[in-house]
Amino acid sequence: MKIAQLLLTWYENSKRDLPWRRDKDPYRIWVSEIMLQQTRVEAVKPYFDRWMERFPDLESLAEAEEEEVVRHWQGLGYYSRARNLLQGVREVSQSYGGQVPQTKEEVIGLAGVGDYTAGAILSIAYNKKEPAIDGNVLRVFSRLFCVEEEISSPAAKKVIKQLVADEMSEEHPGDFNQALMDLGSSICIPKTPRCTLCPLADCCCAKRKGKEGQLPVKKKKAPPKAVRLMAGVIRQGEFFLLHQRPNRGLLAGMWEFPTVEIGEDGEAMDIFRQGIQEKTGQVIELERLLLQCTHIFSHRQWDISFYYCIAAPDRIVPNDRELKWVNRTDWEKLSFAGPHRKMEKYLAEKNSQESWQSFE
Ligand code: SF4
Repeated sequence: MKIAQLLLTWYENSKRDLPWRRDKDPYRIWVSEIMLQQTRVEAVKPYFDRWMERFPDLESLAEAEEEEVVRHWQGLGYYSRARNLLQGVREVSQSYGGQVPQTKEEVIGLAGVGDYTAGAILSIAYNKKEPAIDGNVLRVFSRLFCVEEEISSPAAKKVIKQLVADEMSEEHPGDFNQALMDLGSSICIPKTPRCTLCPLADCCCAKRKGKEGQLPVKKKKAPPKAVRLMAGVIRQGEFFLLHQRPNRGLLAGMWEFPTVEIGEDGEAMDIFRQGIQEKTGQVIELERLLLQCTHIFSHRQWDISFYYCIAAPDRIVPNDRELKWVNRTDWEKLSFAGPHRKMEKYLAEKNSQESWQSFE
């Protein structure tokens, strides 16, 4: 039996009941696919439900403020995905009358929509024969056909793209893509594939050759680079000074307690004091260490120490586009960058237990 038939029969009997599979609304499929990038299905479900309560359709998202959209994304990480999604739905609203377009060229032209997401939207919502190839599909096909090229290489991707296109169901391309997603996340899993449960075992090259543990071929990843940071919880009365990160790069556009990278050498405190003044213009008095934490990104590891600081009262910097003095009420509306959320929670707890006065 052909791969597509085996896959579709298996999918029919074992497909997962997921909130975004209950209809073929391209907007819901789009949101789910963006949320599922780098995040597990189980973790995405509650975010997806909350999102749909607040932004039930494309227009409600297109009209929302970016700050609110990013706040609803908080916890999913990789915030540029939320900003791109917002930009993409605004493009659909303005240029396509609110209807997600139906051609590959148009869909892939939307902000934040790559080859994979375009394939998923077009095949699932519109039943178009478009492959949706992500890491799961690369892994499954590298095993099914014993593709020996390094899996992230253009050569491997090209070979697998062709193989998927050759095997894809004509009648049910959306189900075919979703079946592959499910197979990759539940059966043909990274370290120990469950071949005894696999509907494709009889036509799998890796299984036949006993290579299922060796494929796909992967490059060794460099460990994340450790970076030492100090952040200032800079206070003036009931207000704290916050800084907005640049619109590009790591945690783009998120708010943080002003932070300085500290090298391995030199006087950390002096570098910190001077760095804060260069970054914000604010002169500070360093008081004491409040919190230390580690945050790991794919390529970086932040070891960050938060210090309680007092702003020099005669030289208070004004608010501007990137700097804000906020109190507890204001900062509930802001989106904090990863580790800074831990500090924000720490302060919120202190605030509920003690007066600001005793916090000093
Ligand atoms: S038989 Fe094993 S290695 Fe082959 S596709 Fe199925 S789970 Fe993956």
